[in-house]
Amino acid sequence: MKEDLEHLIRLQQIDTQIITKKTEIERIPDEIIKFTSPLKAAEKELQAQKARYESSEKKRRNKELELSEISDKIEKLKARTSDIKTNKEYQAHLKEIEKKEKEKYLIEDDILFLMEETEEALQRVKEAEKKVEEEKKRLKEIEEELKKKQQQIEKELDELKAQRSEITKKINKELYDQYMMLLEKNNGLAIAEAKDEVCLGCYMSIPPQLYVEIKTEDKIFTCPQCGRFLYRSQ
Ligand SMILES: [Zn+2]
Repeated sequence: MKEDLEHLIRLQQIDTQIITKKTEIERIPDEIIKFTSPLKAAEKELQAQKARYESSEKKRRNKELELSEISDKIEKLKARTSDIKTNKEYQAHLKEIEKKEKEKYLIEDDILFLMEETEEALQRVKEAEKKVEEEKKRLKEIEEELKKKQQQIEKELDELKAQRSEITKKINKELYDQYMMLLEKNNGLAIAEAKDEVCLGCYMSIPPQLYVEIKTEDKIFTCPQCGRFLYRSQ
């Protein structure tokens, strides 16, 4: 019986490791998702910068159109100069040209400003593109690292499963079935140490008589509270 207990203790140690490793593998997709957010943020930033650039570029093109229209008008006004008969008309005509020229200068100023703005916006687009590439590269590296980690854990799991099947062979079926039932019921812990008259599985008191018997009797006892197998290490 004491030998059975030792096998159960060993089996529990292996199962605890198996559970831990399985949990580690299950967490990997979440870890990848966590590392995806900087890339998503960089992609969003790139979209925003592209939109700014396009808006600026559109404004610039519209101003270019305005410039071309006003230049045409000025050319036409100038062409009409020779048709003017009176001095008064001539003065008015010059004023009209002057007014249009002023408008043209203002448009040219706007274009210069917009060219600068567009250039800056393009620069920011390029920076945002660079950032996206960097984040993609970083994410790929993390994914590869996590893939390697997963492969390593799977290898360790295979070793643990081999050890488990060795130890299982040594435990009789009835006891093994009871162990599996307890493992399922008690959150992965089927066997617990009894220490200072307390079950370390559920932290409830163990009757003093039972506590003594665990040590002295050659049989396997269970906790009256949680039902786990109990053992004493001293
Ligand atoms: Zn207990």
